[in-house]
Amino acid sequence: MNLILLGAPGAGKGTQAEKICEKLSIPAISTGNMLREAMANGTEMGLQAKSFIDAGKLVPDEVVIGIIRERLTAEDCRNGFILDGFPRTIPQAEALDNMGVRIDKVIDIEVPDEKIAARLSGRRVCLKCGATYHTEYKKPKTEGVCDVCGDELVQRKDDMPETVLDRLKTYHEQTEPLKGYYEKKGILRVVEGQEDVADTTALTFKALED
Ligand SMILES: [Zn+2]
Repeated sequence: MNLILLGAPGAGKGTQAEKICEKLSIPAISTGNMLREAMANGTEMGLQAKSFIDAGKLVPDEVVIGIIRERLTAEDCRNGFILDGFPRTIPQAEALDNMGVRIDKVIDIEVPDEKIAARLSGRRVCLKCGATYHTEYKKPKTEGVCDVCGDELVQRKDDMPETVLDRLKTYHEQTEPLKGYYEKKGILRVVEGQEDVADTTALTFKALED
């Protein structure tokens, strides 16, 4: 099954992608990881992407799409894949269609902005070992200190309130129109994100079936 996961930053798409990946044994492909992999493997597109990143520029659509094209031909995508974080805009979705990539379903995880803002602004990370915490939902044993390695916990710039509002605004303006785009094709399935991750996962699995 070829899937796209849609949802605002912080709606929990990454987690749902992992759950589907385990259930269906298909790879979850996130754009960020894919770019890093392509660069590390030194593929033609990877080297192109690197030249933009090294120059401090955004990687243009055609390069990202080229990398996705390379990635989707890999052996592990034979039975399907989950795209997480792509497409983000209508032109990217059209490019995917023009590439001849067939999409069976688009799962849209819906969480109200206020909840996302609360979730993200409470997030703390350890820069040393990568462990993540939350000031309400996943507190470390000692406030501000990583349970795993004892390093100091910090709030990533991406999770600061002003940045979160900015990211949500961009999502509503550029990415949310994709819902209509895929609804017209009859492949959009909406999942209401729940407080409990397991409940959201149950709804996601149900959406895969109808
Ligand atoms: Zn740590």
